[in-house]
Parts: sequence; structure tokens; C-alpha cells
Amino acid sequence: MRIIIMGPPGAGKGTQAQILVERYAIPQLSTGDILRAAIEARTPMGLQAREIMARGDLVPDEVVCGIVAERLDDADAGNGFVLDGFPRTIAQARALDEMMAEKGIALDGVVALEVEPEALIERIKTRAVENGGARSDDNVEVLRNRLEVYHELTKPLLDYYKRQGNLISVDGMGSVDEVSAAIAKALEK
Ligand code: AMP
Repeated sequence: MRIIIMGPPGAGKGTQAQILVERYAIPQLSTGDILRAAIEARTPMGLQAREIMARGDLVPDEVVCGIVAERLDDADAGNGFVLDGFPRTIAQARALDEMMAEKGIALDGVVALEVEPEALIERIKTRAVENGGARSDDNVEVLRNRLEVYHELTKPLLDYYKRQGNLISVDGMGSVDEVSAAIAKALEK
């Protein structure tokens, strides 16, 4: 299975990606996790990304496309993957299409989690408390910016994948189990 999981910040992408990892025995490719690890390790990429992420803005396309290109070459991605947090711009989606075409592979589906905006703020607040403030971008002001960035740059991808015939919209407002059951049903159609 080659899956993209999309949705605004706080929609539950990470949680649902983890369930897909277990269900299909595929790795989760999270550009956010890779960037956070780079910040932690103080690599040049991490230093470049740190301030951008703290503001809730997007890291340059070239940087994240480089991460994904490298990660797709890893042996564990050979049987499939779930992309979590990538692509976030049309340019990234086009780059991914090219990477996959070069490898002769195609997507099985783009799962878009639909969640009401008010619920997102609540979820992010809960996550901030649960993580003990471990994520510097989990606070309400930064979340507002992340939501704006999502609406402006990432939401247009829904149309992009709809036109490709790959879009699977799933109601993300239910419990974790309800949402994961809806995703499984849609993917196995
Ligand atoms: P996430 O963990 O997916 O919510 O990502 C956290 C932050 O990492 C985002 O707010 C961006 O600053 C950065 N980031 C992650 N993935 C991407 C991407 N595909 N393009 C640009 N920036 C990204």
C-alpha cells in the first residue's frame, strides 16, 4: 500500500498513520518527525528548519523533497509506505509524482481527514499538555499560523488529488477506532 495521509494540524494524521503502519506492515514517512530529529541532532538541515518550524511556516520544498527522495530509496519503503505530512504544497505533490513515476510506482490512495476547525484547536491544546510542551509549535498562536498555511498552501492539494482520482475523504470527527475503520473500508474498496 502506498498511501498519503492528509489533513489540517490536529486532525489525527500521526495517530491514523501509525495504525496503517501496523495494518499493512509499511513504514511511516513523516517529514515532521525527520525534521524534528534533525533539529535534535543539530544537523545543518535542522538548524535551517528550527525557526521556520517554531513559527509554523513551511520548510522549503527542496529540503523536504530531498528528505522524501532519500527515504523512498530505503529498502523498507519497497513494499509501500504511508506519507504523513508530505506533500504540503502543489510543488511537493508534483515532485512526488515525478519520484514515483521514475520508480514505476503509483499511489493507492490519498486519505484526507476532515475535521471541524474548532475541534482542531482543542486537539492541539490537549496534545500540548500530553507532550508536556515538547513541541514548540503546539501552542495556539502558532497553530493559527499553521492552519492559515494549511488553508493557503496545502488545501489546494485536495483538488489536485481529486482530479487524479486518488482522493479518499474520510470524516475525522469520530473516535480513533471509527476513523481507522472508515479509512480501511475506503482503501480496500
Ligand atoms: P508535522 O509534524 O507534519 O505537523 O510538521 C511540523 C512542521 O514541520 C510543519 O509545521 C513544518 O514547519 C515542517 N514540515 C513538515 N513537513 C513539511 C513539508 N512537507 N513541507 C514543509 N514543511 C514541513
